[in-house]
Amino acid sequence: KIRVSGVTKSFGDLKAVDDVSLAVGAGETHALVGESGSGKTTTIRLLLGLEAPDSGSITVAGEEVTGRTHRDLRAVRRHLQLVYQNPFTSLDPTWTVGRLVGESLDRYRVGTRAERAGRVREALDAVGLSPDLVSRRPSALSGGQRQRVAIARSLVLRPDVIVLDEPTSALDVTVQAGIVEVLLSLQAELGLTYVFVSHDLALVRQLAHTVSVMHRGRIVESGPVKTVFDSPREPYTRALVESVP
Ligand code: ATP
Repeated sequence: KIRVSGVTKSFGDLKAVDDVSLAVGAGETHALVGESGSGKTTTIRLLLGLEAPDSGSITVAGEEVTGRTHRDLRAVRRHLQLVYQNPFTSLDPTWTVGRLVGESLDRYRVGTRAERAGRVREALDAVGLSPDLVSRRPSALSGGQRQRVAIARSLVLRPDVIVLDEPTSALDVTVQAGIVEVLLSLQAELGLTYVFVSHDLALVRQLAHTVSVMHRGRIVESGPVKTVFDSPREPYTRALVESVP
């Protein structure tokens, strides 16, 4: 579903992403882990077409992401959506839940107004929220509900891939499990492919099938989560796994 081949991205003298290759199959969840500054966020920005690589290529659902103009990226957006880390800052507080969730349907003028409203209700239902919330504003919602709204928002265009940046780190421990459940049930139901960035190795074990460990812009180790975490080949991976209690 996703293929990244030999991608490099520098900022001045710094190689933020250095010759990275990875492949993620349909319906699979791939995690990117590594210390701060290792290039995880830059990698997902490259996947989303928000940064252009200096070299290498990226395809998502068969569409080439690299070398597109902003307008051209629309075709990619239908396949791949992003959920930000923090639903307290990523959702416009002046908008209603209905408008937030339906934004991309309105923007791409998908279907009739009634069809769009139906798809918004469907997306809310998929993340376990009541359709009655459409007229509420984010301030009336809990952190967990806000993150569900952010996930519903990413679902309305019926993408195949969702990229998640630290999907639970801004939330209370008590609501994190609910978000994990929503993500797992959506994947089981819709066959979604996920790529996510996380510092939380326990979350990676719960959610991911495969993982790439990044260090100084490079992938130092990659494979099934159990193999990589339980029998790491690289000293850096061993140190990372051992640093977590
Ligand atoms: P974190 O876990 O803190 O989010 P990360 O692994 O996501 O870190 P990146 O944000 O990808 O790391 O950053 C990789 C390196 O590239 C860092 O040294 C960062 O300072 C640098 N960098 C990222 N974006 C830019 C930019 N737009 N301009 C200059 N340098 C950048």
